[in-house]
Amino acid sequence: MAKKKYILIFLPLVLIIVYLFLSINHETNIKGNDDLNSCKYPNVNVILIVIDTLRADHLGCYGYSRNTSPEIDKLSKEGIIFKNMVAQSSWTKPSTASILSGLYPKNHGAMTGKGRLPEEIHLLSEILRGYGYHSYAFVGNIHVSQAAGFNQGFKEFFYFQEKDVKVVPNIFVRSDELNNSLASFIRQLDDTSNNFIYIHYMDPHHPYLPKEKHFSKENKKRFTNAFSLPKAISSMNEEERRILLIEAINAYDDEILYNDKMIGNMVRMLKKKNMYSNSIIIITSDHGEEFFEHGNFTHGKSLYDEQLKVPLIIHMPGKTHKTINEIANQVDILPTILSLLEIPIPKNIDGIDLLNNKRTPNLASYAELSINQLTISSIRTSKYKLIEGVTFPFDRKKKNHRWFKERALIETNDDSLELVIKSFYKNRKVRVLSDGIPIDTFTINTKKQVFNIRLPDSKRKKMVAIESLTPCHVPRQLKISNDKRCLAFCIFNSRNVNAKSLLSARYLEYYTLTEDPGEKNNRYYHPESREIITLLKKNLKKYLLDKKSASLSKKPVKFSKEQIKTLKTLGYM
Ligand SMILES: [Zn+2]
Repeated sequence: MAKKKYILIFLPLVLIIVYLFLSINHETNIKGNDDLNSCKYPNVNVILIVIDTLRADHLGCYGYSRNTSPEIDKLSKEGIIFKNMVAQSSWTKPSTASILSGLYPKNHGAMTGKGRLPEEIHLLSEILRGYGYHSYAFVGNIHVSQAAGFNQGFKEFFYFQEKDVKVVPNIFVRSDELNNSLASFIRQLDDTSNNFIYIHYMDPHHPYLPKEKHFSKENKKRFTNAFSLPKAISSMNEEERRILLIEAINAYDDEILYNDKMIGNMVRMLKKKNMYSNSIIIITSDHGEEFFEHGNFTHGKSLYDEQLKVPLIIHMPGKTHKTINEIANQVDILPTILSLLEIPIPKNIDGIDLLNNKRTPNLASYAELSINQLTISSIRTSKYKLIEGVTFPFDRKKKNHRWFKERALIETNDDSLELVIKSFYKNRKVRVLSDGIPIDTFTINTKKQVFNIRLPDSKRKKMVAIESLTPCHVPRQLKISNDKRCLAFCIFNSRNVNAKSLLSARYLEYYTLTEDPGEKNNRYYHPESREIITLLKKNLKKYLLDKKSASLSKKPVKFSKEQIKTLKTLGYM
């Protein structure tokens, strides 16, 4: 009887949670009534175009106010456009590996700068080889080169090596140069069907050296030496930064426009060879780009939408225009292509066939980032987003500390904390919150000070936030790099045995995307958010624990001295 009562009390709550999670998907729809299942094309070509660092919202067909993409827009009008395409990571290697393998980063294992795509992973090129296709690649990024294991299954693999930054301002191959090689290759191609051609363009990736000058008044020299740009930006005052960012976005848009022109050029190549009408053309990107929306420039630094939302357009023989609003993932590209080619989808793939009318739609998208002392992951539905992880593993022996930017989070089971804190500036006011409730305010100085914080008495885990109340502003003359030293601390708690997890800097962020699409208002501690957060946390945990390939060989990439220099310049080592 008691059990029955228990069920009656909790049943409405469970139903609410199920409703909330399912309602995530309520915008899901495919406009148009054509049966996409009937789109099957054996013996055609597959042209996969990855434009590095291309934000979806900077393309005309995704609603951008500037005319950056007339050629891509034309293809989107005749093809299928996925309005909510989400990347599985925010930098090239893990996200492109997800596109080519259909696996989430946790399952393909190519996550770090030195990490190599394991031989055991079957790429699209390898699967297609088994069905009589010939695969060719034209890539301009070291992270997807032979050295990183991306040439598996390709008959020919053309990698345009990065140039020395001291010799040329833009180290990456330009799309016109790549197209020249592509054009002579296509001209001499004997078989004009059953080819898989993977093209990885680099134009929108910084440094910027735009050939188009529609949006920039002039090419500022600083954009051609962009590896020092992130540092330069952090030492600027707000007005200088605002102006520079406008110019950076102008240059970025010009790069997109030029790359778009080269896509038009590539389409003409295919038409000339009579390959256009029997080719499936896929246009996408590996990740987006941040222009200081969350305090950073470029990518691979967080999992916010500006770094994750990318385009996906599938142009098929014949004209089948559709707009699909449901969540699409990079891992879905491989099964969708296989299905269009009438090739069976391997069972261990993470993605789904996006054009199968009987599919269970994606309720969520997952992303991971594990680079430069940052290990974070996210779950994103069409309404909510949760980002979790650690930013800095604490080493008790080294007694290291980290300069926090405005806020630090500490998880503890204890009812008190002893914190040793020092500030970069004198008289910084700091507020302490426990589970979102302010419990103390104190002033810290430039010298180390010990603070004893009493927390609400309870056995359960508490989340303590330490927030700087004094605005974070780095005076220009200090010339500190991108690290804003608003708050600095070393934390010791001799009574807590689980010191390692206690002292890691936690990343805990939750956003309601419908009200806050810019992810500005972290509602992690908002009492109303708890039920959704619990549900998202549970799903993210399940995602991270459910690994398919624990036994993958972990051979590091063998880079040449020159390549190591390039990677260091790019910030990957
Ligand atoms: Zn990239």
